[in-house]
Amino acid sequence: MSAAAHTIDSIRTGLMAKKFTAQELAIEYIAYAQAENPKTNAYLRFSPERALATALEVDKKIAAGEDPGVLAGVPIAVKDVILTRGLRTTCGSRLLANYVAPYDATAVIRLEQAGGVILGKTNCDEFAMGSSNENSAFGPVRNPVALDRVPGGSSGGSAAVVAQGTAVLALGSDTGGSIRQPASFCGITGVTPTYGRVSRYGLTAFASSLDHIGPFGKSVRDAATLLQVIAGRDEMDATSAFAPVPDYVSALDGNIRGLKIGLPREFFDGLASETGDLITRAVDVLKSLGCEIRDIKLPHTPYAIACYYVIATAEASSNLARFDGVRYTSRAASANTLTDMYRVTRGEGFGAECKRRIMLGTYVLSAGYYDAYYLKAQKVRALVARDYAQAFEQVDAIVGPVSPFPAFKLGEKVDDPVAMYLSDIYTITGSLAGIPCMSVPCGATADGLPVGLQISTRHFNETVMFRVADAYQQASN
Ligand code: GLN
Repeated sequence: MSAAAHTIDSIRTGLMAKKFTAQELAIEYIAYAQAENPKTNAYLRFSPERALATALEVDKKIAAGEDPGVLAGVPIAVKDVILTRGLRTTCGSRLLANYVAPYDATAVIRLEQAGGVILGKTNCDEFAMGSSNENSAFGPVRNPVALDRVPGGSSGGSAAVVAQGTAVLALGSDTGGSIRQPASFCGITGVTPTYGRVSRYGLTAFASSLDHIGPFGKSVRDAATLLQVIAGRDEMDATSAFAPVPDYVSALDGNIRGLKIGLPREFFDGLASETGDLITRAVDVLKSLGCEIRDIKLPHTPYAIACYYVIATAEASSNLARFDGVRYTSRAASANTLTDMYRVTRGEGFGAECKRRIMLGTYVLSAGYYDAYYLKAQKVRALVARDYAQAFEQVDAIVGPVSPFPAFKLGEKVDDPVAMYLSDIYTITGSLAGIPCMSVPCGATADGLPVGLQISTRHFNETVMFRVADAYQQASN
């Protein structure tokens, strides 16, 4: 089996049958990833020593007849906004180019405890702000499916490595769509769990009330397995939920007969034809599996983008204040006074998109504008959440597109931030509501560009979301 073709199951089978050791697999994957990476720029750096140390532990456990963990030996990549102790964590920013994380994110600790092998850190938009991965200080990522196109963003590197086969799984982060949209663009599965399902401890904050860590995998089964490992209450994050984590994978029996699936009118009106056709075909598959399809309404959808870009920038302007040249970051050498030092450090360090958001966020939080913008946006957010709550009184899951269009060309939207923001139109409502949402591949356009189907469910009801996604994936193959 070539490195690129492995799944969690094939690795477990191979390890137990002693076809290869975890160390051999790690070496093979790192060599393969290093050779392939120049095509996409998806990995920013590799962590071979750490990978081999974890793999050695897995091999020792297997030799001793102990349980090596559900992710034993599985090569995993981690988005570079997630802290990894002793390894550089740059957040795609020049400011943090040399920042070495002093501790591990909880999600990282948990996946390594389960035997997962971290191969390296993946490229992303600076501080996870973007929809194309073109806002990285370390160069854009190319979509492995079509190298002249973007992989989506902001978790573009994590989606690309899974699509490219240079990791089996990856961790990303999603604030307004940054897992689902790149998963859709790269033709893989990506999951944004319920807000609070996965600890944010060790995730560099962008917009704290919207930030999530979540998994990428080739299949629903692989992504669900990774989520199960990283989910659950963590004392280090006060917003992480106490809700018990069910066994997602054993619930995947392929039977979704009788489930009620809602199609939001607002998501289908005016949907570009090729994407729309593929989504419609996916809905037909769900119908053939015995689901009852219903039209639903999410009436506040038209206000979601404006609402998100007020709340997310407000929170970002506050969160990014900590990058001041005193802690964490590099410091401007040329400044003489303290104020100058802040100004020059931040002026030189942040890219254009971060600066735009800091200005916008500071503005909407300032005296006199707070009520008009920030408070108003909070009220709209409550209405968007209520739309979902009412819809879930009638249906078990909601499906629709992830993005209005497939992967676009590199450079196509960089000069038009508003056009870029519009790519989030279908992902942002779920983010504002804090419900679980995912993208599962549902075919490709005539040009061979992947399209993703979005599935969402009630808070903490990831099990139903995975059942729908897995049954669809099995049936559509
Ligand atoms: N594209 C959205 C933004 O730029 C979402 C980013 C994200 O989810 N991190 O804010």
